[in-house]
Amino acid sequence: MKVSGNAFCPCGSQKKFKKCCRVFHEGESPSSALELMKSRYSAYAASNSDYIINTTHRDNKDYTTDINSWKKQIYDFFNHTEFKGLEILEFIDGDNEAFVTFKAILFQGAIDTSFIEKSKFVKVNNMWLYHSGEFIQ
Ligand SMILES: [Zn+2]
Repeated sequence: MKVSGNAFCPCGSQKKFKKCCRVFHEGESPSSALELMKSRYSAYAASNSDYIINTTHRDNKDYTTDINSWKKQIYDFFNHTEFKGLEILEFIDGDNEAFVTFKAILFQGAIDTSFIEKSKFVKVNNMWLYHSGEFIQ
């Protein structure tokens, strides 16, 4: 789905998309793992697979150098999912490692596929990257 620059940012900040997560999609570096996490959610909502790929750590289980099949997999997810909102439940900051626990509110058709995840982020060359995540019941 395309998100207009003047629409509210999908991350739930109540700011306009163009003044919030889109600046990161356009090349600015998030200053914290929390900003990165929110901007990745917004990238899912705005169907921006490049941003998802560029902010994923090499050690992530989805990481592959086969960018075309990775993109296809991400697009399949975009196409079947509505991104309804994001709730940040906990943020544990650190110098090179940080954790964000969040609830992603998602629907696939009429089915609520929302989940809670604790994500781990690692700083590499001064850039925060998504390392891994575990689902929380
Ligand atoms: Zn945002």
